[in-house]
Amino acid sequence: MIRFEDVSVVFERNGQPFTAVNKVSLEIEKGRFFGIVGSSGAGKSTLVRTVNLLQRPTSGRVYIDGIDVTHLQGKDLSHLRQRIGMIFQHFNLIKNANVIDNIALGLKASGTPKALIKPRVFELLKTVGLSDKAELYPGDLSGGQKQRVAIARALANNPEILLCDEATSALDPDNTREVVQTLKNIKDNYPITILFITHQMEVAKSLFDEIAVMSEGQIVERNSSYGLFSRPQSAAAR
Ligand code: ADP
Repeated sequence: MIRFEDVSVVFERNGQPFTAVNKVSLEIEKGRFFGIVGSSGAGKSTLVRTVNLLQRPTSGRVYIDGIDVTHLQGKDLSHLRQRIGMIFQHFNLIKNANVIDNIALGLKASGTPKALIKPRVFELLKTVGLSDKAELYPGDLSGGQKQRVAIARALANNPEILLCDEATSALDPDNTREVVQTLKNIKDNYPITILFITHQMEVAKSLFDEIAVMSEGQIVERNSSYGLFSRPQSAAAR
């Protein structure tokens, strides 16, 4: 379970404090496909980055499976990050490395024995449906395929949590469907919690078990996917 307890993130802007995340408390059960939606600048990305501490909270705490991770450093922080995969809007693949080497990166970083790397890469390629693209470079792939490589890389060390930051926002509808389907398959076949930020309502509708709506740094509504679209409670959701 992921639990945010009174999490705030305050940045400095033109010498003034700016509260991007404002006292958010939220619990996300294990194994959920959980969406965070809201308009641009609502604080979604900043909140989600506190899970793997790419962003440290200014105050409040983040718990994973009951353990306070807010102040982890050094080895403990590296270990935490191995338990959490992340994908991004612009894929963040290495252009001059082929698909195999892109996926192998995370395995090398975690000290996976050399002999186990290739078999694991091919297993991951099968999971994302790209077994026939192993030798290609990112430039040879469609946006959807690039994102599926990024998903394979994020899953390399069997993370318990996958963070997806606007993972379909740079894609056209066909490629979006392809990535959505890949994530659904993963969710159905692996014990993983997926936390997905998006401002694309079609994606929210088709993917999430539950949704939190963020506005001006706060969670203004939490609802089932069906509930949010049939009977939204907050002005931001409407
Ligand atoms: P969202 O993901 O909902 O679009 P973000 O979390 O990216 O929103 O940003 C929330 C607000 O915090 C925005 O106004 C953004 O400009 C600001 N912000 C994000 N990161 C920083 C930073 N490192 N320094 C200053 N302001 C930031």
